[in-house]
Order: sequence, then structure tokens, then C-alpha cells
Amino acid sequence: MKQVAILGATGSIGASTLDVIARHPQRFRAAALSAHRDVPALVELCARFAPEVAVIADPALLDALAHALRERGLATLPMAGAGALDTIAADARFDTVVAAIVGAAGLASTLAAAAAGKRLLLANKEAVVMSGELLVRTARAHGATIIPLDSEHNAIFQCLPRDYARDADAAGITRLILTASGGPFRGWSRAELRNVSVAQACAHPRWKMGRKISVDSATLMNKGLEVIEAQRLFGIDPSRIEVLVHAQSVVHSLVEYADGSQLAQLGSPDMRTPIANALAWPQRIDAGVARLDLVEVARLEFEPPDPIAFPCLGLARAALSAGGCAPIVLNAANEVAVAGFLAGRIGFLDIERVIDHGLQHSVNEAADTLEAIIEVDRAARAAAVGMLQDWKA
Ligand code: NDP
Ligand code: MG
Repeated sequence: MKQVAILGATGSIGASTLDVIARHPQRFRAAALSAHRDVPALVELCARFAPEVAVIADPALLDALAHALRERGLATLPMAGAGALDTIAADARFDTVVAAIVGAAGLASTLAAAAAGKRLLLANKEAVVMSGELLVRTARAHGATIIPLDSEHNAIFQCLPRDYARDADAAGITRLILTASGGPFRGWSRAELRNVSVAQACAHPRWKMGRKISVDSATLMNKGLEVIEAQRLFGIDPSRIEVLVHAQSVVHSLVEYADGSQLAQLGSPDMRTPIANALAWPQRIDAGVARLDLVEVARLEFEPPDPIAFPCLGLARAALSAGGCAPIVLNAANEVAVAGFLAGRIGFLDIERVIDHGLQHSVNEAADTLEAIIEVDRAARAAAVGMLQDWKA
């Protein structure tokens, strides 16, 4: 029986993970759950899954959580604060950690799980982007196994040789091909993008996801973060990572080998497939997912991304080749800009301006400890917030 800690249990990935776990009560137990501020949702999950521990990341909500658990007669232990996330990520009672917090807020707990040698099911791509080599190095030093949940990276994981050791040449790999849905604005011009609403940006045609990643998907920054994520996780040169728009979201990504073979993973666009793959790996279990009907799909369509309409993908590639702190700055500026867009304070096309501005002012030093990364992230956020304030003035 695997004891699973789910960081970000009240989110979209959290819900899909709990759905798979609930299908296999003999294999998995949701043993620790966390949320940011949504006490009612967290308590509902505690009533359903009876975890040992529930963490609310906002420390001001500890009393509310404790009170609600008591009122429902639940034995789950309440904890609070960012430190408590690290504690459950490292707690030896839980062998598997699902990193499904959105944004930089998940960095420390993701690293804590790696340092504790856990089986780490990784959705929190921002943590991968920010941590450079640190995450992979920490996992290796402490015997942690990282299995990506991001659908593209999980697809690549499935298409790589079982003994792949971050050496593309040794494995005969020539390219990784990441597929992109293209988001809700695929085919739109810049003039059309100028006045898009939050509701339009969050209405993804294929995937139902949290609001932050939905906006990232609309700007194509999601694919930019994923190029960096692929470089980090698979140790491959960025020039060998290609992006193809595939609006059908049936082919989730491909690995190309020296002999000309391209291995792809296909399936319905449903995150429960990569989650079930990662939970049970190397075994295969039912994920509750609709079977893909290839006759219904009939043909597969691919096109190159449009770099003029969607410059965020290029900004992410530029940050990756600049190296040093640039990916941390890219991520921080993007998080601030997306939050500003979601709050109605800036327009859709302002997002790329905030990121571009941040990158132009980023320094080229390496940050390879948690403390150094957090400091670069803090400064880049402050700069982006300052820029937004200057705009308003
Ligand atoms: P959601 O917004 O749906 O959920 C986010 C989760 O993180 C919630 O449990 C939320 O708690 C918690 N959280 C938010 N902010 C904080 C914070 N400051 N401290 C602690 N916890 C916090 O996001 P998704 O599930 O869509 O995405 C999660 C991660 O997975 C992201 O990194 C995303 O890029 C990645 N991912 C998601 C995919 C998807 O299909 N959704 C696909 C591939 C990757 P609360 O509910 O209390 O706010
Ligand atoms: Mg993805």
C-alpha cells in the first residue's frame, strides 16, 4: 500500500489524483493533503479520504481548519504554514509525494520531497523551471525517483528507454518533440488578442485546468515553461527540443531516435492517464479514462507555433539559453503578470511586456541553493510589481 501525500489536493491535479486513488483503495492511500486557503474544500476531502494530516498553507487559517475537522468528528491532524508543507513532503510515513501546488509556492516542498528520497510525482513545473539543476541533483543524491505528471513530459517518460540516464547521445535520442494544443487563441492575430477577456483566456478547448496554467496555455508560456522543464528533467540540449502545435491533443509528445523512429504516446486528453501511469509505474492500472477511438480521430494534424502572435515561447527559450537566473526571473515575472491579468489590472498582451522587461534586467549569475533561488524570485517579483504600478500611475 502506497501512502501518498498530495500537495495542492484541492486543485485540478489534486482532484484528478484523488479520483485515481479512489479507484484503487487496495493500492494507494491519500495519507496527507494540503490546500492554500480553501478550508471547506480541504475538510470535504478529509471527510472522504481520512488522511493522517491536513495542511493549510495560510497559517492564519489553522484555527478554522482545526475547528472544522473537530466539528465533523474527523481524526485528521491539522497543520498550517509553508513549513508544514515541507514537513509532510519529508515525512517518512509517506512514500509518494504529488507536487501539485501552482507556482513558486511549491518549490520548497518539492525540493524537500526530493531530499527525503521520495517517489516524487511532479506537476509543479514552475518549481522545475526555477530550480535549475538543483532539483535533479538533489533527487539523485538522495535516491528520489522523479516521475513527471505534466502530460507531455509523462509521454516522453513513457517513450524513453527504462534505463535512460539523462544522456541523450548514449540513448540514441536525436529530438524531443513537445506537442502543444495552441490554447484558446490558436490562429488569432495580435490585433485580435489585444482585448481578450479573462473568461476567454481560461476557456481551454481541450483541458480543464487551474486558472494560472490556463492563461499560460493561452499565451504559450506554458509550452515555454515546458521546454525548460524538459531540458531540466531529461538533460537534453535545448536545440533538440522542438514544439509542434497539435490542437487535437491526442499525441501527448514524441521522442525521436537516431534510426529515424519517432515514439509517441497517445490517449484521450485526460490528466488521469499520466497520473495513473506515475502512481503505478512500472505497472499499469485503470485510470477511469475514456478509450481513444482512432477511427473517430481519423487524422492527426500538426503545425508550427506562431512566434509573432505568441512571443512568450521565444522568451522562455531566450531565458533558457541565457542561463543563470534568467529562468527564475522569467517565471517570477510571468506569475506576477498572470495574476495581474486574472485580477483585471493588465491586458493579455501586457503579460509578455512584463516578462520581457524582467528578462532585460536579469543578472546572469547562477542561483543553485534554495535560498539563492528564493532571493532571485523575490527581487524579480518586486521588479515586476513595480513595473505594473508605474503603468497604472
Ligand atoms: P489549481 O489552481 O487548480 O490548484 C492549485 C493548488 O495549489 C490548490 O490546491 C491550491 O490551494 C494550492 N495552492 C495555491 N497557491 C498556494 C500557495 N501559495 N501555497 C500552498 N498551496 C497553494 O492548479 P492546477 O492543479 O491546475 O496546477 C497545479 C500545478 O500543476 C501547476 O504547476 C500546473 O502548471 C501543473 N499542471 C497542471 C495541469 C492541469 O491539468 N491542471 C497539467 C500539467 C501541469 P487552494 O485550493 O486552497 O487555493
Ligand atoms: Mg503540459
